[in-house]
Amino acid sequence: MTLTPLPAFQDNYFWVLHDGPRALVVDPGDAQPVLDFLARTGLRLDAILVTHHHADHTGGVAALVAATGAPVWGPAAESIPQPATGVGGGDTVGVLGLSFRVIDVPGHTAGHIAYYAEPAGQAPLLFCGDTLFSGGCGRLFEGTPAQMLASLDALAALPATTRVCCAHEYTLSNLRFARAVEPANADLAAYERDCQALRARGEPTLPAQLGRELRINPFLRVREPAVRRAAQDRGVADPQDAVAVLAAIRGWKNEFR
Ligand code: ZN
Ligand code: FE
Repeated sequence: MTLTPLPAFQDNYFWVLHDGPRALVVDPGDAQPVLDFLARTGLRLDAILVTHHHADHTGGVAALVAATGAPVWGPAAESIPQPATGVGGGDTVGVLGLSFRVIDVPGHTAGHIAYYAEPAGQAPLLFCGDTLFSGGCGRLFEGTPAQMLASLDALAALPATTRVCCAHEYTLSNLRFARAVEPANADLAAYERDCQALRARGEPTLPAQLGRELRINPFLRVREPAVRRAAQDRGVADPQDAVAVLAAIRGWKNEFR
């Protein structure tokens, strides 16, 4: 199983997973980078997985279906531009010989889903769209802080070795914010240096490793004393209230420059 992030637009990745001649793509917001990759590698597209309805995740689906006939899976609770098999939490999607477990992760959008699989002999894979980013989480466009907290908690419970395939290269700006939340987090400082070196070489910082995210991502750390204290400094009355802490740091991030 080979995992390849196809860079697109300003900072999107369309994740391609392939095994032998067959490939799947997640959240193709544009068909052309995927068609170019298929032409270059000679791979056949076997499946398209969609995490949520936003155009930068779905814009290429119709053209890819027209060009390849690949079947589409997407969130049952959202409408996406192309007929898709709608799936939700607890469903499984069988593609490339893998069984992807669907996890409901509302928050960024109301019906957002993630796909999780355990390829034989490899670290687990999570395609989480715009829910979890390295060092950050998605904006709350349609969901509540309580929903996002439950979604992030569900992802945090996956194995620490899980490769987190986020849909955007937001890592460096997220880490700058994370450092404002937790200035004394040494793991965070070291990880930021590693990511700066990767970006300086033009390489992706992703996939992220879930175990590390648990040590550096403030949105996965809302029950940590340092993050609670930061939220308290931002006016949260009860720092034991994880939903309030998440809401406060998400609001802070929205205005952070
Ligand atoms: Zn989105
Ligand atoms: Fe997006």
